[in-house]
Parts: sequence; structure tokens; C-alpha cells
Amino acid sequence: MKKPALIISACLVGRSCRYDGASKILAELGELEKLFDIVPVCPETDGGLSVPRPPAEIINGKIITADGEDVTGTYEKGARNAVVTALRAGAKYALLKESSPSCGTHLIYDGTFSGRKISGEGITARVLRAEGIKCYSENTVGELLCELQNVDVTLK
Ligand code: SF4
Repeated sequence: MKKPALIISACLVGRSCRYDGASKILAELGELEKLFDIVPVCPETDGGLSVPRPPAEIINGKIITADGEDVTGTYEKGARNAVVTALRAGAKYALLKESSPSCGTHLIYDGTFSGRKISGEGITARVLRAEGIKCYSENTVGELLCELQNVDVTLK
């Protein structure tokens, strides 16, 4: 049977695409690969940003770098690319890196570049959700697995 597609933040599958050139490989990746057709996206580099790049946070709905540059348009372009990829893949689920101004699903940095987090979502998570795609993070992998199990059960 064809596996469902899972959009996943590319840094969680080991791509060194974070602003500081690091990755954050997901401990559960092997388990997810057995269940899903993994489709990595990095909205920020796909939108045209380089690695490394200045950190950016959401301030009053705009995405601003630590140097004060407004990069909202580039982040929006990356978010649109992610939606196109998700729709082409027929994805109903995404697993995104928490706290990123693009990929955060429940938390973002508070805009002061002090490391403090607040409730919120990144721009890519927002547009994916607007298309009906359920967004999870590395903190809610268990919820995603439960969701998949429930879908399997209702199909049987
Ligand atoms: S935009 Fe998303 S995928 Fe790309 S580095 Fe940031 S958190 Fe990872």
C-alpha cells in the first residue's frame, strides 16, 4: 500500500540548512520513514536565503532579522513553495521544527532576540494549516503517530 506523504522540515532529516549551518536530526526519523513517504522542505533556503544567515524573529506580523532587515517577503515565498510541494505530494501531514519563524507550530521566539519563547506559529505552518494540512513538531511526534493509527483503524 502506498505510504502517505509527510512534509518534514529539512533540518530534521539532517540537512545543514539552519541559520547557523546546523541540523537537528530527529530521533524518530527511522520510525517515520517506515510509515511515511518523507518529503523534506526548507522554506527559508527554498525561498532564496543562504546558509548561514542572520537569525530572524516575528515582530508585529513581520519577519525581521537581528540586524533589523525586513525579510518577510522572502519567508512568504518559501512558505508558498512549501505549500506547492505539499499539495503536489498530496500531503495531509507536516512535521515541522518547533520555534522557527517559518516552521514553528505552537511556539515562536518573542521578537526580542533574548531566547524567550511565546505561543505562536511560523509563517509556513500557518499557510500549510490554511490548506488543511495538520502540522506537528518534534515535540508532538507521538500525536502524529496516534493520528495515523486512527486513520488506519477507520479505513479497516
Ligand atoms: S526554515 Fe524550517 S526547515 Fe529550514 S532550517 Fe528553519 S526550521 Fe529547518
